[in-house]
Amino acid sequence: MIGQAAVDTIQKLLAAGNMPVNDIARAAGVGRMVVYEIKVGVNRRRERRDAGADEQQPEKTDTKFRCPGCGGKITGLSYCLKCSLEMA
Ligand SMILES: [Zn+2]
Repeated sequence: MIGQAAVDTIQKLLAAGNMPVNDIARAAGVGRMVVYEIKVGVNRRRERRDAGADEQQPEKTDTKFRCPGCGGKITGLSYCLKCSLEMA
């Protein structure tokens, strides 16, 4: 187990991108595998965030073009004409 300070140092050096993994491991006083694991972990988090953003977009546009009153398809109004008249 390594400390959070060491993890921060490794992440900073990895982000800089100009230092070989071997040198980062030696500088942080950890094994090469630890540096690799942190490197993979950072990449995985980034991929998950991107995938999540893609999943949410179609859902939002879909609800935007559906009348909250009757669920019918609309083109820009928050309610369809029929529901707007009923509420007035
Ligand atoms: Zn409606």
